[in-house]
Amino acid sequence: MEHNFERLKAHILPLSEAHTFNLAKTEWKLVGVEMHEDFDHCPCGQQIKELCYLENQKNGNKTYVGNVCVNRFIGIDTGNLFAGLKRIALDDKANANEDLIIHAYNMGYIYSEKEFNFLMQTKNKRKLSPAQLSWKQKINRRIVNQTVVRKNENNT
Ligand SMILES: [Zn+2]
Repeated sequence: MEHNFERLKAHILPLSEAHTFNLAKTEWKLVGVEMHEDFDHCPCGQQIKELCYLENQKNGNKTYVGNVCVNRFIGIDTGNLFAGLKRIALDDKANANEDLIIHAYNMGYIYSEKEFNFLMQTKNKRKLSPAQLSWKQKINRRIVNQTVVRKNENNT
């Protein structure tokens, strides 16, 4: 199924203050991302596993859309965020990329400037000391715990 712009618009407009989509979309800010093992639905109708949580800056309304719609229609660039997330979800020793590090810091998954600087300084490093590696794993696991929803975890 195609990403249906009309369906997305019909979902976003009533949650926005503005009455035209071009203005309405400027009210929304990315407030979190999640990767799900199970499929979910974007308001456009597309099945998605990469969810982008949005908050309306004018009225506090919240929703989520898939990573294609967030970029194509809302105009928010998630860049390499999901690529970085996939990498550390598969291997907690892997390096987070810059987009992911900045997002995780803004979301509070990275607790301090020291952690932030460590990840940034080692984002292209192949060899880390054992202490650095375990520090990186600890931070990566924390990021993954906040952003990756395994099968059935969200069933209550
Ligand atoms: Zn969509």
